[in-house]
Formats: sequence, structure tokens, C-alpha cells
Amino acid sequence: TQVIVGLGSCGIAAGAGKTYNKIKALKEAENLDFELKKTSCVGMCYREPLVEIVDSTGTYLYGEIDEDRVFEIIDKHIVQGSPVKEYVVQSDLFKTPENEFLDEQVKIVLRNCGHMDPESIEEYQARQGYAAIRKIAGEQISGADVIQKVLDSGIRGRGGGGFPTGMKWRFAAGNPSDEKFIICNADEGDPGAFMDRSVLEGDPHSVLEGMIIGAYAIGATEGVIYCRAEYPLAIKRLNIALDQARANGFLGQNILGIKGFNFDIHIKEGAGAFVCGEETALIASVEGERGMPRKRPPFPAASGLWRKPTNINNVETYANIPWIILNGPEAYAKYGTEKSKGTKVFALAGKIRRSGLVEVPMGITIRDVIFKLGGGIKDNKKFKAVQMGGPSGGCIPEYLADTIVDYDSVNATGAIMGSGGMVVMDETTCMIDVAKFFLDFTQKESCGKCTFCRIGTKRMLEILNRITDGEGRDGDIELLEELAYQIKDTSLCGLGQTAPNPVLTTIRYFRDEYEAHIYHKK
Ligand code: SF4
Repeated sequence: TQVIVGLGSCGIAAGAGKTYNKIKALKEAENLDFELKKTSCVGMCYREPLVEIVDSTGTYLYGEIDEDRVFEIIDKHIVQGSPVKEYVVQSDLFKTPENEFLDEQVKIVLRNCGHMDPESIEEYQARQGYAAIRKIAGEQISGADVIQKVLDSGIRGRGGGGFPTGMKWRFAAGNPSDEKFIICNADEGDPGAFMDRSVLEGDPHSVLEGMIIGAYAIGATEGVIYCRAEYPLAIKRLNIALDQARANGFLGQNILGIKGFNFDIHIKEGAGAFVCGEETALIASVEGERGMPRKRPPFPAASGLWRKPTNINNVETYANIPWIILNGPEAYAKYGTEKSKGTKVFALAGKIRRSGLVEVPMGITIRDVIFKLGGGIKDNKKFKAVQMGGPSGGCIPEYLADTIVDYDSVNATGAIMGSGGMVVMDETTCMIDVAKFFLDFTQKESCGKCTFCRIGTKRMLEILNRITDGEGRDGDIELLEELAYQIKDTSLCGLGQTAPNPVLTTIRYFRDEYEAHIYHKK
């Protein structure tokens, strides 16, 4: 019998550390016969702390097991042998209401999260971990063939831009150099987004393996994981995974006997500047400079870190790669739409019943994500809108909720897919407050290099403030729009180019609320 406690940041925040300690103390005091193990988040953040008991009859995932419920669960299930059904959120023996949350999901990126000890390379390998790089070495698959598989899978960058990953790899591979770099962008900074953190905390080896495969394909000699310092648990688990990968020959010299494949990875902790998620700012930061975007071209694939060819993808993109190599590009391309293949991880937050992490095939509707998986709106309120794509994205109103999740369809609404944050709003939310929240964020995070991004966002924020203070003026909406388009047109990087999106989409879909504030002082 195994008792497994979910110890991701969400679980720990809900008290899972105390739950774990209490189970441990009980096991020792009563000399109970079970194995106590740790895992990370399975995505059900809304039912943390989660404790799974695996016995000879099946699996029982218990939700909301705080310190006070530990004795009851252990006594009834382990000592007396009778599971406590009312606390079970998932089981392989029977259905629960929470099956709605799980049944629609297709887990490729999150295949191991919540199902293994993230600090154990043995458990990763027992779940086909490092089998993809072993396959490449064993079958002597060339770098060009690896890139072709990534291209054929149709995967596009999951960091927000949606650029085809295989094409990016091909560009970096095609630029000869004595030194090349591969970077993992783990600078997840969108408010309400925690996809990358969960993957790093729950399955760090899958990201390392994706980077190792990428390094082999493009001929990189060194890897960097740029991870925000606000993710201490992710960094700790990454460091453990790196040591284990080195000790097992997956990093170092002549990896897996591939002559001349010498590659290692180190972590660079970011100081929390949102703009460092932009790839040229990230590179500047790794080089020890202030994190400010640089003009492109040259693109990093030609001249990136230390002016050498560099490939940058985010955490989710790399975590997909071993699965694609092992299962084949066709298996991956089977999911999704014509131009957006595979699955996407979303962090559900805001006024939604089941907040947490889900992975769905592209092509599912936003409505299904919110209502089927997310369980709808809290407290029986009405669904009003969802902010997709974080501060760079936009608000999608209820009447567009049947929009399918793919890059082009979401773009057509004025929002962006982004990295996967979905912040849900109910009927009580003031949409101008929402626009103000996100603009305040980007305004503070602007690096200041471009005049319109630096000052234009400030002026827009002042206008929004006076509107919500009941001092809005005739012409303010038009002024906001004019400034927004100027900022978008004149900004150097994605931060400025997208910063006005939350304002533009709320004006587009909720203009009446702006007018009510301005003309009726509501
Ligand atoms: Fe900096 Fe904004 Fe210009 Fe980007 S758009 S470089 S964040 S000032």
C-alpha cells in the first residue's frame, strides 16, 4: 500500500506539508505498514491538499485532506480497510463528479505530473522517461530527422507566439558555429498563470529531456534554464533533476555514447521582470545586462546568447518533445485543428468553480473548458468574460465562448492564446477594473526603452483611473483607442505591442460599461 501526498506549491499553500508530516508521525507512532511518498500537482488545485492511497483494490485520490482529516483517512482506509468514499475525488474503481474535470483532458505535457515523485529519476525512467533520447541514440536518428519529426508534429511554441517549433530548430541548426545555445524560457510572469511552474515542480526531467533532444538536433553545446526566482520549489527540483541527469549520463560528454555530443545545462534565476520573458531581453539578462529587448533581426537563431546561434522555447514546448519523439509526430498531430496541433495546458483562475490546471486538445471550445472542466462559475453567478493570454491578451465575452481554442480563432477575438492563463469573470466584475489591472501591470513592467510604451501606457492608465473615479470625459474612449494603436504601432517588443489589448477588447465588447461610467457616473 502506498500513501502519496501532493506537494506542489498549490498543495503546500493549502497545508499539504502539515498533512505529510502528520501522516509520517502517525505511521511511525502506530508502526503502520505502508509506503509514504511524495508527488506534485495533478491539476486539482481546488481540492488541495490531495492524498492518494493505492492499495491492492485500486487507487483512491482524496481531496481536502488537511491535518484534521489525516487520522480519519488513515484509520478507516489503512487500518480498517474501508475507503472513505465521501472524500474521494478520483478513483479507478468508480466515477465521481470530478471525473468531468478529468475525462475531457488529454495529458501529454502533464503526463507525469501528480503521478510520480518529481525528485526521483528512477520514477521518471519507469514512466518512459529518457526513452526518447535513448531511442535517438539507439536508432542513430540524425539531428535533421529529429527536426523533421518536430516539424511534422505541427507543434507551435507554447510560450505565446505560436511560431512553429520545428522551423525555429531548423533555423538554429542551419547556422554553423563552434558554440550554440539552447534556452528554456521559464520566466512565467502572467498574473493568473502557473502552467510552467507546475510542470517544473511536477516533472522537471521531461523539460531537461526536451532540451537535450533540442540540443542534439541543433548542435548546441550549452543549455540555460531562465527561471524566475519566485519559483523556489521549481528551482530546487530542477537542480536535483540536473544532478541526477549528470550522474546517469544524460548530460556531460559523449551523451549516451553519441560521439561529440557534449552538453550541459545550468539555471539562471531571473529577478522577476516581466519583460525578461521576451527572448532578446532574456538573453540580455543572461549576459548580465539589464533585461531590455533588442532590435530584431538578427534573430536569436542567427545571433543570440553571446552572439551565437540560440534556440529559445518555453517549458511546455520542451515537455512535449520527448512524447513526440517516442510516439511519433502523427500521434501528436492527431489532436487539434488544422493549424494548431496537439494539446494546450491552461491555468484556470478567477471566478471559476474548479480552479487548477488542465490540458485539453486544441479545438475544444472555451465554453467547454470553463463549464465542463471548470464546473462553471462560482456561487451560481453568471459567466461574463474570460481574460486569455494574460496582460498581453484580451477579454473574450460570454457570447463568444463557443470560440475554439486554436491560435487563429483566439486571435480573431482580439485576445491571444498566450501561454495559457484563463482568468474567468462573473457578472459582478467591472470590466474597466479588469482593463486597469492588466494595464497597471504592463505599465509598471515596461522597460522604458520606447516612448509610447513608457509614457503612452501611463497616460492610458490615468484616463482609466479618472473614468472609474467618476471623472471621465466625453472623448475619453476615443482617446484611449488612439493611444492604444499608437503604442501598438511604435513599440519595439511584444510587451508594448500587446499592452493595450485588455483595454481595446473591453472597449470592443463592453463599451456600454465605459459609457455608463463616463456619462452616468456609475
Ligand atoms: Fe521596453 Fe516597452 Fe519598448 Fe518593449 S515595447 S522595449 S517593454 S519600452
